[in-house]
Amino acid sequence: MTITTANLGFPRIGAKRELKFALERYWAGKSGVEDLLTTAKGLRAKNWTLQKDKGINVIPSNDFSLYDHVLDTAVMVGAIPAAYGWKGGPVDLDTYFAMARGSQGGGHASCGHAEHGHGVPALEMTKWFDTNYHYMVPEFTVDQAFELTANRPLEAFLEAKALGIHTRPVILGPLTFLKLGKAAQDGMSPLSLLGRLLPVYAKLLTELAQAGADWVQVDEPCLVLDLSDAERAAFAHAYQTLRTAAPSLKVMLATYFGAIGDNLAVALKLPVAGLHVDLARAPQQVAVLIDKAPADLVLSLGIIDGRNVWRADLAGLFKRIQPLIEAHGHAKVQLAPSSSLLHVPIDLALETAVDAELVSWLAFATQKLDELALLAKAFDTGSAQANLVFATSIAAANARLTSVKVHDPLVAGRLKQVDAGMLKRTSPFAKRQKLQQQKLRLPLFPTTTIGSFPQTADVRKARSQHAKGALSYVDYQAFLERETEQAIRWQEEIGIDVLVHGEFERNDMVQYFGEQLCGFAFTQHAWVQSYGSRYVRPPIIYGDVSRPKPMTVSWWKFAQSLTSKTVKGMLTGPVTILNWSFVRDDLPRSTVCKQIALAIRDEIHDLAEAGAAMIQIDEAALREGLPLRRAEWKAYLDWAVESFHLCSTGVPDETQIHTHMCYSEFNDIMPAIAAMDADVISIETSRSKMELLTAFTGRGYPNEIGPGVYDIHSPRVPSVAEMVELLDKASEGLVAGQIWVNPDCGLKTRKWEEVKPALVNMVAAAVELRTGLERRRAVNS
Ligand code: GLN
Ligand code: ZN
Repeated sequence: MTITTANLGFPRIGAKRELKFALERYWAGKSGVEDLLTTAKGLRAKNWTLQKDKGINVIPSNDFSLYDHVLDTAVMVGAIPAAYGWKGGPVDLDTYFAMARGSQGGGHASCGHAEHGHGVPALEMTKWFDTNYHYMVPEFTVDQAFELTANRPLEAFLEAKALGIHTRPVILGPLTFLKLGKAAQDGMSPLSLLGRLLPVYAKLLTELAQAGADWVQVDEPCLVLDLSDAERAAFAHAYQTLRTAAPSLKVMLATYFGAIGDNLAVALKLPVAGLHVDLARAPQQVAVLIDKAPADLVLSLGIIDGRNVWRADLAGLFKRIQPLIEAHGHAKVQLAPSSSLLHVPIDLALETAVDAELVSWLAFATQKLDELALLAKAFDTGSAQANLVFATSIAAANARLTSVKVHDPLVAGRLKQVDAGMLKRTSPFAKRQKLQQQKLRLPLFPTTTIGSFPQTADVRKARSQHAKGALSYVDYQAFLERETEQAIRWQEEIGIDVLVHGEFERNDMVQYFGEQLCGFAFTQHAWVQSYGSRYVRPPIIYGDVSRPKPMTVSWWKFAQSLTSKTVKGMLTGPVTILNWSFVRDDLPRSTVCKQIALAIRDEIHDLAEAGAAMIQIDEAALREGLPLRRAEWKAYLDWAVESFHLCSTGVPDETQIHTHMCYSEFNDIMPAIAAMDADVISIETSRSKMELLTAFTGRGYPNEIGPGVYDIHSPRVPSVAEMVELLDKASEGLVAGQIWVNPDCGLKTRKWEEVKPALVNMVAAAVELRTGLERRRAVNS
């Protein structure tokens, strides 16, 4: 009996980013709907054919999306907020894209999102579980009604059928859909809408069954989260309803991104024909399923890692799942990637410039399909033959195990020597603060910015010309020096207290460092979708990380040489570099993070040595690395904080360490933030009107804080009065000597016309607070 191979989803963007370019042409009015839809249809056909050619037995349909699959689901069930003006019935593309990007067509070129202020804003966007993919958050009202505006899975199923390919349509399950959404009004739980939503799902499934679908994949990744009793109870009810509606349609209930854990009993009781489990993230589920899976349940074994780029150790995987397959029977299992392949790049064959040895260790979506087919073949031929089938995979795994490209004994040796003394500053904060004050002599409410200044068209053009070889190194450096000097002069002119060099030389806050560190590789075509038409090419961390030479010191030195004011050294932190990369799978993430931390520690040492009195370490992605399950938070935060300590504590007390985080929901991770013990932390607080600062004030956070007073996501220039009001509010819970004045984040996506007046106002606001304070002090004395 041949084992079935199945796929849960294939990247939509096209190997050459065809979807992005078609969308952007359409949004710019340079092409019509026809053109966009033809491109989309072509991509779907190509993906189906590829999977068929690779010998995949169960091929997904409706895994495609023009923008986002959660948005598709919201539109499909008619969960469209009134602001978008939909009157019922089929939903047109304009409405769909208004929900995705805001209305007013235009949108901001750098991020694909309409600015606030005009028209209808886009739906909120947030991270899809712990991936770097972002989905549009459905919004539900108390009187939310649902209707099937179009049966998209059915359309996809028929489209594939017309090409002679029988598919298993994918839908986002009703419980995960509701859980990912938010209530438009306080006090309403989206789960309470389940009863109204289920008839829509029932209709959808009934129509699918009538059209000849035998299986449907229903994604319920929320089964790997901590669920409430009410949520668990809702599962039984929902799936019974769906079963009754379409008894002949077999449901493959898909879980991924972790272990089902304490939700297993719920999952196993559901009236579904199959269960997909993530055995890449949670291999311990093999034993659990041998023990607990009912004999007639089809098990889809998510064995090929859908979240990472490494070639699988097929011999190892074979051994891992063999006992389960023997116990459950070949006929009742499917071999699959752990999750949709949406999160990995499409085709390794395009990477002609990547080191050949590294290439031999990698597998992108296309190669992962081959791996599945090979695994299935090995199970057919039996274990005696398996190693023959896996010969190339075994060779690659062995090479990686011993390669000098991967293993640097110096790095391992240094990590072993890390002791408690390397993990804390010489003196406690109170003492450091005094020494720093004496050295820096800053006014109260010191003003600064977060690092980057506008990356203008000129800056981007110079960079791309330099990359293409059209602008010489010398000319490019001269250009960057001019930009930096202008930025320094201008900051001096308007009276900012602590200056930044502007980051004009940086393409991206992670890539810039990765390109200078050993152990990192970069690709040319390995794009993955971040959101909508925005794709990223994460670095690949393949080997032990070290820093061959200083990365930022010369830019800091140059900038500091131009001014007598303090210029902040500017670095990206280890946790952020880790979280925005594809990380090697042969070491714990915590170890890789500490290796990066050591490299950053070297950089900080050199900056301090060169005379930097102040160094900022950005940890923009620290919070988003939180594990999906609460029980795992502590372990993550422990090594994240330790990594921050490891990079930041090797400097004298007088050196002021800043950190920056682009968000402000700190309440649940506050002890970790406090434990980081940065001398100054800047956070994003302007949009919440300082609401979120309470995490700090309520707990008597002692170190200094720069609560953002300027929303850099908007082109709007905040007034002096507005910023004074925010600072007054911040002053309520903090003491004057604690507060810094800065924007929410870096200014690279803004225009100078917006940044200039905004920062002039920001400086004026700080001055007003200082004089207000002096007045009050004079009155009191
Ligand atoms: N220093 C970076 C900048 O200003 C920080 C960016 C970020 O936190 N996302 O651009
Ligand atoms: Zn930021």
